[in-house]
Amino acid sequence: ATPTALLVGTGRGAQLGILIKGPEVLESTREVDTVVLDKTGTVTTGVMTLHEVIGEDRDLVLAVAAAAEQGSEHPIARAVVTAAQTSGLALPVVHDFTSTAGLGVRAAVDGTGEVLVGRPQLLTDAGLDLPADLAAAFEEAGRSGRTVVAVGWSGRVRGLLVVGDEIKADAAQAVHRLRALGLTPVLLTGDHAAAAQAVARELGIDEVVAGVLPEGKVAEIERLQAQGRTVAMVGDGVNDAAALATADLGIAMGTGADAAIEAADLTLVRGEPGLVADAIRLSRRTLAVIK
Ligand code: ADP
Ligand code: MG
Repeated sequence: ATPTALLVGTGRGAQLGILIKGPEVLESTREVDTVVLDKTGTVTTGVMTLHEVIGEDRDLVLAVAAAAEQGSEHPIARAVVTAAQTSGLALPVVHDFTSTAGLGVRAAVDGTGEVLVGRPQLLTDAGLDLPADLAAAFEEAGRSGRTVVAVGWSGRVRGLLVVGDEIKADAAQAVHRLRALGLTPVLLTGDHAAAAQAVARELGIDEVVAGVLPEGKVAEIERLQAQGRTVAMVGDGVNDAAALATADLGIAMGTGADAAIEAADLTLVRGEPGLVADAIRLSRRTLAVIK
């Protein structure tokens, strides 16, 4: 390979907003046939807003959840805290806080004791009861494509928070362009299946893997590789870092977490999914010049 052509390729990438870690990265894109896209923050904006609170005492559910979420950097947490502040709710004092990546948070809140906010599974695994009406409401709200999280304390789930973000403006076009290059798109997310399916449908993605825990993302990449596929992974979160490193080509959103950028081979500076196709076209063209 002529190093000059590779350097020209990396220079052209930089002009487009594609930062390439080293010229040799271009080589590894040659065989890519599958592009795994993380959902939240990669094909969606990752800026969430609270749409609805479901429960008997909605103000209490929101205030307690916001108190518990104050220590979390997750987009869901930010949406919940902002909504509580906008509603003028006074947040109870929090004594203790832990967060579990891909599951939710737990905190000791004044007046309510231990509070959990996250996937229903986080709460039911901790022994909290999920009343039938809230279980039904969870399914119903999820069908809209929004993300639904549970809030509970003292032995029972007390309410649900419905949050959502928007699909990025260039995401559908980005998927279309990947297909035009002969690549198969796959949507991979920790979010529940209904929300993932709604986004996949809008983007024209047929292969969806949902409800995946952070450590499960690596296993999914390995599963695809075991099928003989060469996999590019596009992600933005701390939770995506290990999968980005495992993929044959890791692509990070420049708007995402430092851990994701460090683990990736390429960074899309402006966080536009449309640049994935540009990056793959660029490397194919650069390699064609060399051969
Ligand atoms: P993604 O793979 O879409 O980026 P995450 O792995 O960050 O999603 O989160 C997966 C799921 O875990 C969320 O949809 C939510 O149910 C739950 N979760 C994670 N962090 C939090 C939090 N701080 N508050 C509430 N729920 C959370
Ligand atoms: Mg993400």
